[in-house]
Amino acid sequence: MGIIEKMRLDGKKGFVTGAARGIGKCTASGFAEAGADVAIVDLDYDEAVKTAAEIAEATGRKVIALKCDCTDKAQVEAMVKAVVEELGGLDFCHNNAGICINAPAEEMTYEQWMKVININLNGVFLTDVEAGKYMLTHGGGSIINTASMSAHIVNVPQPQCAYNASKAAVIQLTKSLAIEWAKRGVRVNSISPGYIGTDLVLNSPSLVPLIEKWNAMAPMGRLGKPEELESICVYLAGDSSSFTTGSDFIVDGAFTCF
Ligand code: NAD
Repeated sequence: MGIIEKMRLDGKKGFVTGAARGIGKCTASGFAEAGADVAIVDLDYDEAVKTAAEIAEATGRKVIALKCDCTDKAQVEAMVKAVVEELGGLDFCHNNAGICINAPAEEMTYEQWMKVININLNGVFLTDVEAGKYMLTHGGGSIINTASMSAHIVNVPQPQCAYNASKAAVIQLTKSLAIEWAKRGVRVNSISPGYIGTDLVLNSPSLVPLIEKWNAMAPMGRLGKPEELESICVYLAGDSSSFTTGSDFIVDGAFTCF
């Protein structure tokens, strides 16, 4: 089989969390374009339905929308069950739902801290393990988690200690699961994007004024585009990455190089 054929996802089934918009929407679109059937999983069901219809129309693949709060164990269990029933299996997933709250540590409430940790870390744990349980007993699979360059550096000037800590933990969770499941056919990797022009940044009144500062620090002088994360995720989801597990892929236009 040639390399391009090996990179395709024909016949595979997967889900993406936080896929109604932003990075998840783009990777879901990439998976479908590569031949997979995909579930768009999000808290925001109305937007997930629109995204699913858009990707189905553009790619001709089966694309479904599922409402799920990734921090709720029962909802995650029901979501994975629905993916398997409606798509006919589960070969890969991109656990990507996440939020950021900017506040100085001494002013951050415990509720704010917990909200970030709950979605960015506990939600990834719940979805990884629920998907992993299915994959371990059904011929293996590939799990991709969204970490961040904030796992590797402390962003400035905005204070975001909970986000940075949650994303560093996602990388160690990724490596831990990769080791636990390495001999059992389930691969687990993460991506660490730099600043990407999505709602998380562009709809945040506190972050928008900082874009110029970040761009001045960025070797490429600009934000990344969500579609610039598609190819790495398509690679990780498919069989051409069969020896790749426990790795984190920084996609940040060299932001963290100095
Ligand atoms: P976004 O805000 O554009 O989209 C996030 C989506 O996640 C939304 O549709 C939201 O409804 C959904 N979501 C939030 N909480 C959820 C929950 N509990 N259960 C299910 N869905 C939920 O954000 P984005 O920029 O596309 O970010 C996606 C991921 O990438 C996040 O984990 C984020 O931390 C990470 N990331 C983003 C950037 C960036 O600069 N945009 C950089 C590095 C990493």
